[in-house]
Amino acid sequence: GTNPKSHHQEILGAPGVKGKRVMNNSSTDGVTDFIHSIISTTKQEVKDPFYVLDLGKIVTLMDKWNHSLPSVKPFYAVKCNPEPALLGTLALLGANFDCASKGEIETVLALGVSPDRIVYANPCKSESHIKYAATVGVNLTTFDSIDEVEKMRKFHPKCGLLMRIKAPEDEGARCPLGDKYGALPEEFVPLLEAANAANLVVHGVSFHVGSGATHSRAYHAAIAEAKAIFNTAEKFGMAKMHILNIGGGFTLGSQFDDAAITIKNALETYFPDDQELMLISEPGRFFAETAFTLVTDIIGKRVRGELREYYISDGIYGSMNCLLYDHATVTAKPLAYTSNPDDPNCAGLKTYTSTVFGPTCDGLDTLLTNYQLPDLKVNDWLVWPDMGAYTASAGSSFNGFNTSAIPTYLAYSIPN
Ligand code: PLP
Repeated sequence: GTNPKSHHQEILGAPGVKGKRVMNNSSTDGVTDFIHSIISTTKQEVKDPFYVLDLGKIVTLMDKWNHSLPSVKPFYAVKCNPEPALLGTLALLGANFDCASKGEIETVLALGVSPDRIVYANPCKSESHIKYAATVGVNLTTFDSIDEVEKMRKFHPKCGLLMRIKAPEDEGARCPLGDKYGALPEEFVPLLEAANAANLVVHGVSFHVGSGATHSRAYHAAIAEAKAIFNTAEKFGMAKMHILNIGGGFTLGSQFDDAAITIKNALETYFPDDQELMLISEPGRFFAETAFTLVTDIIGKRVRGELREYYISDGIYGSMNCLLYDHATVTAKPLAYTSNPDDPNCAGLKTYTSTVFGPTCDGLDTLLTNYQLPDLKVNDWLVWPDMGAYTASAGSSFNGFNTSAIPTYLAYSIPN
C-alpha cells in the first residue's frame, strides 16, 4: 500500500521534515520536472496516483489575499482539503481555520494551532461535537435556528455566536448553500432574542454566498443585510456586534478580483470607520484548488476503430468525485507531452477522440468523454492540474481504491 508519510520521507529526507525542493521560476515546468523526478526516484513497480502540492503557490496566494483584502482575516475552510502540509503552511503564513466538526478541530489543534484561531462554522452541530469544542476551548460558532441556541446554552454557554444568514442574492453559485443554511429576515429578531434570553452573546453575523460564486453582487447584498442586523441588535439594546464573517465562495482569477473590489466598496459603504469591527472569512477553494496537481497512470486501454478508451488509477469515487459533488470540470494532459516545452499542448500531434474511465467497476466512473488525446499506452501518465479543491477530501474507498492513501509530494516553486 501507499503510505503518504513514507513517501514524504523518501523524497524529501528526514522524517517529519517537510523539506523543500526548489523548482525553477516557471511553475508549470517546475511541477512537471518534479513529477518526473518523483516517478524516477520512487521506481514504482506498481504505479499509483499521487498529488503534488506546490507550497510556493500557497505563499503566492496568501500574498494575493493580503494585497486584495488586507482587512479580512482568512479562516481557511479545512473541508476543502485537509492535507496537513497545506494546513501547516497556511498556519505559518498566519491564516486561521474554519472547522466543520470535531474531527477537523482535532486535525487543526494537532498542528499546534491555538483554539482561538478556529471558528466552528457549522450552524447545526451534534451535541457530542459541541461538548468537545467546549473542552478544548473553541469559543466561536455559527447558528441559524432556535434549537441550536438551546444546544449551545446547555453544552457550551461560553461560546460566542455568529448568526448565519441566508445570503440574499446567492443564485449564481456553482454549489448553492442558501436552501440548507442561513436565517431568513423574519427570523433575525426571534433568533437574537432567543440567544439573549439564553444568556449567549451574539458577536456578529456570518454568511456564505455559495461555493464557486459567480457574481460579486452577492457579497454586496449580504454585507448590506449584515449591517441592518448590527443596527437591529443595537436598537434592541443587545451587546454591540463586532464580527462580520463574509464566508467563502472565492475562485482565483477575475472572479476573486471582482469579489475583492465589491467587498471593499460594500464595507466602505455600510461599515465606514467602524474601528472595532473584526472582519473574517472562510475561503477554501481559493487556497486549495490551484496548489495541487494530480498525477495518474494509465492502467488499461481499449481501441475501437478511431476511438481510444483509457482506464486510469483514480476516478469518480476518488479524487474526481468533484465531477459530481462539486459540479467541477477536469482536464488532463499526458505527462510525456507537458514536458515538451515547445509543444505543451500536443498541438503538433495526431489526437484521437478519447474516453477516460476510473478504476472501479461502475459505469458511472467515467471522467472524460469526447476528449482529444494523442495515442497513449498502458503505463503512460496523465497530469491533472488544479485538483486541490473538494477532491481527495470527499473521495471514498469504493472497490478498494482508497482515496485517503493517495500520497502527496511537496514541491516548493519560487513565489513570483
Ligand atoms: N464555510 C462554510 C460554512 C462552507 O460551507 C464552505 C463550503 O461549503 C466554505 C466555508 C468554503 O467555501 P469555498 O471553498 O467556496 O471558499
